Amino acid sequence: MQRGQSELRGTMSQNVLGLTRDSLWPRCILAESGSHFGFSALLLQFSKFSLSGGRRGDKDKVVMKIAVIGSGISGAVCAAALARGGFMVTVFEMGRGPGGRMSQRREITEDGRELLFDHGAPCFTVKDKEVKGIVSSWEARGLVAEWKENFGIFDFTNSKFLQLGEEGVTSKKYVGVPGMNSICKALCLEPGVEPKFGVTVGRLEWLENNRLWALSGLDGQNLGSFDGVVASDKNIVSTRFTGLTGRPPPLDVRLVPDLAVKLQDVPVHSCFALMLAFSEPLSSIPVKGFSFLNSDVLNWAACDSCKPGRGVASDTSECWVLHSTSEYAEGIIRQTGLQKPSHSTLTKVAEDIFKEFQSTGLDIPQPFFMKAHRWGSAFPAVAVTGEEKCLFDKTKRLVVCGDFCASPTVEGAILSGSRAAKKLQESLSSL
Ligand SMILES: Cc1cc2nc3c(=O)[nH]c(=O)nc-3n(C[C@H](O)[C@H](O)[C@H](O)COP(=O)(O)OP(=O)(O)OC[C@H]3O[C@@H](n4cnc5c(N)ncnc54)[C@H](O)[C@@H]3O)c2cc1C
Repeated sequence: MQRGQSELRGTMSQNVLGLTRDSLWPRCILAESGSHFGFSALLLQFSKFSLSGGRRGDKDKVVMKIAVIGSGISGAVCAAALARGGFMVTVFEMGRGPGGRMSQRREITEDGRELLFDHGAPCFTVKDKEVKGIVSSWEARGLVAEWKENFGIFDFTNSKFLQLGEEGVTSKKYVGVPGMNSICKALCLEPGVEPKFGVTVGRLEWLENNRLWALSGLDGQNLGSFDGVVASDKNIVSTRFTGLTGRPPPLDVRLVPDLAVKLQDVPVHSCFALMLAFSEPLSSIPVKGFSFLNSDVLNWAACDSCKPGRGVASDTSECWVLHSTSEYAEGIIRQTGLQKPSHSTLTKVAEDIFKEFQSTGLDIPQPFFMKAHRWGSAFPAVAVTGEEKCLFDKTKRLVVCGDFCASPTVEGAILSGSRAAKKLQESLSSL
């Protein structure tokens, strides 16, 4: 572990069952955070010149250009906040759409039915005052809603559901509406934000004379030059990027050595998600979302189509998403490597997880759709910053944000993105 990283798993408090809160995943039930910064002061307009040649705005003010790498919740929060502060923001996202680990997966069955799954974070909780303010504003816009359902814990040793009610386990759970990705989608479409999906930033070059960042894509295509950069994924300096793309990481660590050292080897936990669709509701299950105790394979199961804003009232089918334990996922990754998992690996994983689900003894019929997805870096195991919640190189105007800067939750990522916007704004306003 690098200096300055705090052990997240070690700080998870214990519940009455003597289990760490971490082991009672998912984080929508267990999220924690702790910071108290305001999200307000993002309204400055910039009259300073833009080194990148940003366009002229109202009253001859020149608007500075910022690149945000990643449209997960931290990048999206940061991008929208900077745009509201008067910057011209371009979001580059390697995925086909927004959301990152809050994505929604669209599948079409053989008979042409459309199925939608929140295959990453199923929901989230909020404790931090600043994040509460942000989430309330999304709630007012209809982007999120409370997920009011019964939740539980299933113990494999006696095949029974435990009673819930311990402090912290029953906090208000939010979901994006109509999908977890709705928040990122809306933030990336705010005025002043230009999203570019399916574009991987392959290289970040610092132009010392112009004091600008020049970005290029994986195949060397010019993505433009920018007055400041926000990177919302630690892989900009990590060998995991090479594992995934076969290319060197985008950022030369010698450009920002102090920052890079904190990001290079951040340990992560992995997870497989299993997407299932059943023709009829799983009426033998008394709750709509539950964690598992004493299973080597299963960690969480939830009825995705039971969330607010999903599904069609006349449709009797139910979509469920199951999450594996990180131990199970890491065992598979040790055998298969970090590259994209093969079809046969995903089929085997799907069968393992479904078999474990059926072994609960709950009456689980065969699904008409079943597919597994791998999250190689589902959860950072450490936080690389303290109270700052983001990393910042003031001279080169590079900010790094993401859940790995705060806590391995949606809440942590929101806080980090918000802080990153504030940092960059403060720094650029003093130019
Ligand atoms: C299975 C699962 C279950 C979870 N459950 C919960 C839960 O119950 N509660 C909870 O609070 N949290 C949960 N989480 C965690 C939560 O999803 C994350 O903490 C949060 O979404 C992280 O957001 P982020 O913006 O930091 O990172 P990400 O969402 O990972 O965003 C980073 C983005 O950057 C993009 N990117 C990276 N490199 C490049 C590049 N070079 N060029 C262009 N784009 C790039 C990526 O494609 C990605 O979209 C869960 C996560 C998973 C995977």
